[in-house]
Amino acid sequence: MPRTLLGVAGFPVAHSRSPVMHNAALAELGMDWLYVPVPLPPAGFDETVRALPGSGFKGLNVTVPHKAAAHRLADLRSRAAEAIGAANTLTFRPDGEIEAENTDAGGLLDALAQPVAGLRALVLGAGGSARAAVWALIDAGAAEVSVWNRTPGRAERLASDLGARHVTRPGRADLLVNCTSVGLGSSVDAADGQAALGLDGIDPPATVVDLVYGEGPTPVVAWGRSRGSRVVEGLEVLVRQGARSLELWTGLDAPIETMRSAAMGSSGRRGPPRA
Ligand code: NAP
Repeated sequence: MPRTLLGVAGFPVAHSRSPVMHNAALAELGMDWLYVPVPLPPAGFDETVRALPGSGFKGLNVTVPHKAAAHRLADLRSRAAEAIGAANTLTFRPDGEIEAENTDAGGLLDALAQPVAGLRALVLGAGGSARAAVWALIDAGAAEVSVWNRTPGRAERLASDLGARHVTRPGRADLLVNCTSVGLGSSVDAADGQAALGLDGIDPPATVVDLVYGEGPTPVVAWGRSRGSRVVEGLEVLVRQGARSLELWTGLDAPIETMRSAAMGSSGRRGPPRA
């Protein structure tokens, strides 16, 4: 009987914090499973993923650039994965079917840890994570979800696909979620990052979430803190989406504190954070 495996497929994937986070959780749960990085160029995605169950894989997280491919490949899709058009979690079922879920959506809501119903939300960005955030916020009952993006056409399409409002400049909101990659790699100066996102002129939202994380405060985290907003960092979103994936695969409650400590403990490594 091969050892049960889980993993994260990405390209690149070497900097992912998911293996250390999930292996710590599996150890805490007393499970003899192993979570491994799966470096996978786009060209080989379908073939390799279909072969993984034969090598003992029960589940797979997927990150950049594979989330849309994971959605396409799956035989079954959750409501979230279907609506978002992307998946970050695949489960290899005993009957041979592959099931897709998008835990980025629920993970964001878990990390927020506050009711979203009735809030005015502003999402910055129009990439894959922005789609998940917009869908999650609308589904959770936000009164209004606005989307701003550097390339306006992308925000317009996203808003129209998911029933949000496209805005040409960031404005007042109760909740701001940064889904751009501004701040990734820690090379951008905080003021430059804030200017690139048009944050200078807007009133501080009560809550700020930054999906990006790195070694120190990102430009958006620094901005939120300096304005007195409640700030939720990207590492917490990473932990919460990972916890949801682990619960799907194991059927057990994820040990959140263990996952958080492991993810934070590995945060000294430089490089682009990947789910
Ligand atoms: P993506 O699909 O590549 O989208 C990137 C977005 O960032 C686009 O909207 C892009 O705008 C915008 N952008 C890039 N550089 C910019 C700049 N200088 N100024 C303004 N906007 C800029 O990426 P993604 O998958 O959505 O991920 C976005 C970020 O979230 C990444 O940093 C990723 O690591 C992080 N993330 C974190 C988690 C977590 O668990 N914490 C989960 C998922 C993603 P254009 O359309 O104009 O290019």
